[in-house]
Amino acid sequence: MTTPAGDLCLRGGANISALPKISLHDHLDGGLRPSTIVELAAAIDLELPETDAGALGTWFADQSDSGSLVEYLKTFDVTTAVMQTTEGLTRVAREFVQDLAADGVVYGEIRWAPEQHLARGLSLDAAVEAVQDGIEAGIDDARHEGRSIRAGQIVSAMRHTDRSLEIAQLAVRHRNDGVVGFDIAGPEAGFPPSNLRAAFDYLAQNLFPATVHAGEADGIDSIRSALFDGRALRLGHGVRIAEDIEVDREDAENAYVTLGGVAQWVKDRQITLELSPSSNLQTGAIAAWGDELIDHPFDLLYQLGFQVTVNTDNRLMSGTSLSRELSLLSDTFGYDLTDLEVFQLNAAAATFLPLEDREELSDIISAGFAQA
Ligand SMILES: [Zn+2]
Repeated sequence: MTTPAGDLCLRGGANISALPKISLHDHLDGGLRPSTIVELAAAIDLELPETDAGALGTWFADQSDSGSLVEYLKTFDVTTAVMQTTEGLTRVAREFVQDLAADGVVYGEIRWAPEQHLARGLSLDAAVEAVQDGIEAGIDDARHEGRSIRAGQIVSAMRHTDRSLEIAQLAVRHRNDGVVGFDIAGPEAGFPPSNLRAAFDYLAQNLFPATVHAGEADGIDSIRSALFDGRALRLGHGVRIAEDIEVDREDAENAYVTLGGVAQWVKDRQITLELSPSSNLQTGAIAAWGDELIDHPFDLLYQLGFQVTVNTDNRLMSGTSLSRELSLLSDTFGYDLTDLEVFQLNAAAATFLPLEDREELSDIISAGFAQA
C-alpha cells in the first residue's frame, strides 16, 4: 500500500492530481510514509509489527480495514512512537508537505495533538516548533520542484485527557508562527465539547478559530455541543448531521426532505463539513446508511446545499490521497469538474486564513480548473 502518486483522471480526461486542491482535515500522525517509519524506528530501537516498508504499509491497510476501531487505533501507537523527537517530528512534517504538494494540494491545514508527542522529553512548545520547521522545509522543497504550497498547523487537544486549556493556550501562543486553528480529537462519545468549556472560552476570548471532531462517532447532540459549546466554525466530518435529515421518497423522482433544527442551522449558517469518504466508511461513521461509498450521505448533503468539503483524514491508514478521494466520489456519484471545483472553493472559503488569503486561494483554484 502506498500513497498513490499516479495520475487519477476524471471521465473526460481531466487529471485530478494536477488540479489545485485544498486539504482541511488531514492528521500528521496519519500521513507518514512506511519507509520513514522503518528508518525512524531503527534510529530509536523501536520494534515494529513489520520491518519491511512494503509489508508495514500492508499492515496499516489491514488493521484499518479490519472493522475494529481498537485495531484501527493501534496503528496510531506505531506512528506516534516515531514522532517523539525533534528529528522525527520535523522529518514527518516535511515529507507530509512534500506529499501534499505532489498531489496538487496548494494549501493544507495539518492537524496533530502535541500532547501525544512528549514521551521522550519534548516540551509542547518545542514539539510545535519542530513541526513548523518541517512544514517550512517541505514548502521550500516543493518550491524547488516548481510547486507552490502553503500550510498551517491545527493543534488538537485530546478530549479524554485533562489538558485542553493548556493546549488552547499553546495554540494561541503560536498563532503568529504557524498555528492557524484549534481542534479536539479522540473519543467523541462521552466526551462532548461542553466538558472542555474552559478551553473553548479561552479561545473565544482570544478570537481564535476552532474546528471540532463531531458527528463521526456520535450523533446530533455531539454536533450541537460542538456548535454551541465549542463555537466550532467547522465540523470534523460532521457526517452524522444526516441523522437530523428526514427523506421521504415518494418515487424515483420525488422526495420530501425535512431538516431538524441542528441540520437547518448547519445548512443556513453554512458551517463547513470536513467529510472524509474513505475514513468515514472505515470507522463506521456512516454505518446507519450502509457500508459502501454509494451509501455515504455526501451527495444528499451536497444536493441540499450544505457546505461540503472532501478530505483524507489519515492518508496512510486509508491508503489514499485527496485526488483519490475526489476520484472515488466522482466514480460513485458522477461528479464532474464543476462539482469538484465547488468542493475546492468551499474548502478555500473555510480555511482559517484571513479573508484576503482565502480569496487568493479561490482565484488559484478557479484559474487551475479553468485550464483543465
Ligand atoms: Zn480526524
